[in-house]
Amino acid sequence: MAIDAIVLGYLKALRLGGLARSYKEILRDADEHNLSHLEFLKACLEHEILFKKDARLKRLVAKARFPTLKTIDTFDFSVQPDLPKHNMELMDAGFVRKRESVIFVGKPGTGKTHLAISLGIAACQAGFNTRFYTAANLANQLVEARANHSLSRFEKNFKKLDLVILDELGYVPFSRDAGQLLFSMVSARYELGSFIVTSNLDFSRWTEIFGDEGMTAALIDRLVHRGYVFRTSGDSYRFKESLRMAREA
Ligand code: ADP
Ligand code: MG
Repeated sequence: MAIDAIVLGYLKALRLGGLARSYKEILRDADEHNLSHLEFLKACLEHEILFKKDARLKRLVAKARFPTLKTIDTFDFSVQPDLPKHNMELMDAGFVRKRESVIFVGKPGTGKTHLAISLGIAACQAGFNTRFYTAANLANQLVEARANHSLSRFEKNFKKLDLVILDELGYVPFSRDAGQLLFSMVSARYELGSFIVTSNLDFSRWTEIFGDEGMTAALIDRLVHRGYVFRTSGDSYRFKESLRMAREA
C-alpha cells in the first residue's frame, strides 16, 4: 500500500481528524520552511489540538441552542456605564467554574439577552456544557415532561449542565404549577452548577412571576447568594439605534 494511504489509515484509526484533513498541507509547509523533525511534529500536534478544540466548541454551541450568536466584542459598553467591561471572572467563565450565577435585570432592549448569550459562548469556549432556555420555554418543557412521566430524566440531564441560561424571566407569569416545577428544578441544581438569569422585573416584583412569596424569596436567595447581579440601564438600544439612523439618513 502506498505510504500515503497507510498514514491516512493510521490518522483515522487514532481519530486525528484534523491531521487526516490537513497533514499534506503541513508537510508541504514543513518542506518550504525547512522545518526540523521536531518542529514538524510540533506543528502536527498543534494543528490537531486546535482542530479538536474548535470541533468541541462547535458541538457545545450547537447543544446550547442559543437563539442567535452574540459576542461581547459587539457590545457597546459606552451606553452601560455601570456594567464592568473587564470583569475577567465573567468573561473567562470563572463564574461557571465556581458555580456562581449571574443575574441581569433591566428594561427590554437594554442588552440582557446579548450579554447572557455572550457569557454563554464564553462558557462553551471554556468547555462547559451550556443550555439556553427562555423561562417560558423551560416551564412548558417541565410541565410536558411531568405529563410524560419523564421529569426525573429531565432533572438528571438538567443537573449535568454546567450553565443554564434562563432568559426573560418575568415576561410571562407562570401558573402556580409551572412556577413550582421551575423552582424545584432551580433548587435541584443549586450549588451543582451556574445560572444566568435575565429579567425585566426587579427582585421586589418576582413574586408576580411565581405567585408564592416564600418560594420566590428562597429562589432569589439561592441565586443571589452565589451570584453577581447587574442592572442594565437606559432605554432600548435598538430604539436608540433606529433614532440615530433616522437622524443620519
Ligand atoms: P434585552 O434582552 O435586554 O431585551 P437584547 O439583548 O435583546 O435586549 O438587545 C436588543 C438588541 O439590541 C439586540 O440586537 C442586541 O444585540 C442590541 N443591543 C442592546 N444593547 C446593546 C449594546 N449595549 N451594544 C450593542 N448592541 C446592543
Ligand atoms: Mg432579552
